[in-house]
Amino acid sequence: MHYQSLNPATGRVLENWTPHTPEEIEHALHSAHQLYQSAWSKGDRTPRLQLLRAIADQLEQNLEPLATAASEEMGKLIAASRGEVRFCAAIARYYADHAETFLAPVSYPTDLGEAWLEHHPIGVIMAVEPWNFPYYQLIRVLAPNLAAGNPVICKHAQIVPRCAHLFAQVVKDAGAPAGVWSNLFITAQQVATLIADPRVQGAALTGSERAGSAIAEQAGKHLKKTTLELGGNDVFVVLDDADLPRAAQEAAAARLSNAGQVCTGAKRFLIQEAIYDDFLALFREAMSQAVMGNPLDEKTTLGPLSSKEALQRLHEQVDAAVKHGATVLLGGAPVDGEGFFYPPTILADIALDNPARQQEFFGPVAQVYRVKSDNDVVALANDSPYGLGGAIFSSNIERAKQLASRIEAGMVFINSASDTAPELPFGGVKLSGFGRELSDLGIKEFVNQKLVVVAKG
Ligand code: NAP
Repeated sequence: MHYQSLNPATGRVLENWTPHTPEEIEHALHSAHQLYQSAWSKGDRTPRLQLLRAIADQLEQNLEPLATAASEEMGKLIAASRGEVRFCAAIARYYADHAETFLAPVSYPTDLGEAWLEHHPIGVIMAVEPWNFPYYQLIRVLAPNLAAGNPVICKHAQIVPRCAHLFAQVVKDAGAPAGVWSNLFITAQQVATLIADPRVQGAALTGSERAGSAIAEQAGKHLKKTTLELGGNDVFVVLDDADLPRAAQEAAAARLSNAGQVCTGAKRFLIQEAIYDDFLALFREAMSQAVMGNPLDEKTTLGPLSSKEALQRLHEQVDAAVKHGATVLLGGAPVDGEGFFYPPTILADIALDNPARQQEFFGPVAQVYRVKSDNDVVALANDSPYGLGGAIFSSNIERAKQLASRIEAGMVFINSASDTAPELPFGGVKLSGFGRELSDLGIKEFVNQKLVVVAKG
């Protein structure tokens, strides 16, 4: 275990962090459980919703240090880092505004008498989160659970300890009582021990299938509820009647955003035959315009990958794809020099037996496929172990809607790349996981939906 801040644009170590001791872990769990048992968690929601608003204010007041930390630790472009912090504030305010409505009792007409469903907190939630959106991933768990009354213990990724620390400080400075949000620098084994503890009642993980499978196994063994937000190999479909210049611009942005390290990033580009060559020329041009460099420089449009290991893995995946017959149309090898940079890359001719077809490439590498009919689009889109998001570009909205309903994914966008908003459910199917975050659905994942019935007469 090594919690270390390291700048991926330079490869230089910024800071080493000390892991939490077993005593500190027990103290965090004890505080969280005490909080759950108190009126603060189980009583009137108003103080918790006020705290959410205070957290939103704190996030905005600390915009620059938070944004700079993200850009320095995991390489996000500074403008995107600022956008992420503002978006976190919006999510906090969204739940502050809507939690009362979402968690209000729901009446159920029945012959048995008067019946209604109440929403109660269930206990401490273990959150395990990835580095690619080092604040957004955290607020997606904190905001609904704070509103509902569940304390959260978080194990963040080892490469973003400064972000983890600053986020915990924001919550504290907003006036949170001990236990609302506990950041712990701990091992996978210590996460397993926490999940096994009877005081922990749920586990929320965002990350790879490998981590998802480990968390689900531990949670299953101890009968704890889980939500898993895992990887994706999303399609970006361009139908033969699409606005090609617009689709090409959006396609490049969707593949290069966050240096390609987005779970819902467009990864497989399904282009209909009639417009394949025209689209590809525009797409290649748009991808080539990326300006690689220091993420703190406002002129940069493509930052580094998050770590040396991420760069090596992507490099190996591209090499393996090429060995299995793929053609490199753009890029295709890491950039020499300091930092972990990989250029915009386009792979074509990915045959049925090429393992790349079924893999998530977590970097700026696009796979392009030539497809014939609308049925072929659906068949290729669904030929994936993942089912997170997807996008369809067409000037015929009815046609696009019909395809959207046939694609096996948790989210499909028409004439826009995949996006996210506080009020929209987020999640996937198949190896992309289960459960939903954000929206009214996200706040219902870890609540006791308790039925109360008053018998007739
Ligand atoms: P990762 O290696 O799975 O790490 C995610 C988190 O899980 C980290 O905190 C990691 O800790 C932890 N972890 C890993 N193995 C674990 C285990 N056995 N027990 C407990 N914790 C464990 O994922 P990543 O490479 O950082 O993130 C990229 C993946 O996340 C991609 O597949 C991406 O698509 C997915 N993702 C999904 C969504 C979504 O909402 N669906 C959003 C963002 C990212 P360490 O740092 O200590 O290893």
